[in-house]
Amino acid sequence: MSSESAGSDTQAGHPGEPHAQEGLGNRLNWLRAGVLGANDGIVSVAGIVMGVAGATTERGPILIAGVAGLVAGALSMAAGEYVSVSTQRDAELSLLDQERQELEEMPEEEYDELAGLLEGKGLSPELAREVATELTEHDAFSAHAEIELGIDPDDITNPWQAALASMLAFTVGALLPTLTILLPVHHRLWVTVVAVVAALACTGWISARLGYADPRRAVLRNVAGGFFAMLVTFLVGSALGGAGVV
Ligand SMILES: [Zn+2]
Repeated sequence: MSSESAGSDTQAGHPGEPHAQEGLGNRLNWLRAGVLGANDGIVSVAGIVMGVAGATTERGPILIAGVAGLVAGALSMAAGEYVSVSTQRDAELSLLDQERQELEEMPEEEYDELAGLLEGKGLSPELAREVATELTEHDAFSAHAEIELGIDPDDITNPWQAALASMLAFTVGALLPTLTILLPVHHRLWVTVVAVVAALACTGWISARLGYADPRRAVLRNVAGGFFAMLVTFLVGSALGGAGVV
């Protein structure tokens, strides 16, 4: 899910405030990753506890399954995120190194390249050279990193931070079905279904809003997916429980 954490900053912010825009875009990316992580936690652990609840009414096994699913899922998310962000970071750092070296070894070719890229964005040749000159005088390396490579050298995602964030997001989501399925009430399965559906409606709505998509369809898809997961695991659990496997 995560490689989304580092990405385009172009969707939000106010014109004329490049830094605020970058900061906001980055926060939105983190928020989006967090919502998706929580969504994963809700769906997978709801499926696990409903499956066990289909096989047994005892609270002990349900609690153990829920906690094991929470811990395993959170660690798996963290490991996956760590690997994916590290790989992306290594690639970005090596591109930046190469660019730094090229700027040292052949500054004139690099200047022409920058002017050419600016011209390709729609500037007239004269203006492109003027802008390239000012950018080169100001901070040639950052200009090349951003315009040529699309990388902000001051904003490389930290893999540990990304891993921790998705671990936390998954855990928050996973806690919901783990807690509701253990409530000391008679209809706790239905309480869990309702709570999960409501939570998935929220995460679907938020992630659609963050991506400027139609929230109604996103909510429907997200709720249907989670409901289907709970239904299937519950039926599998019931079948195994009924067959005397448990
Ligand atoms: Zn360059």
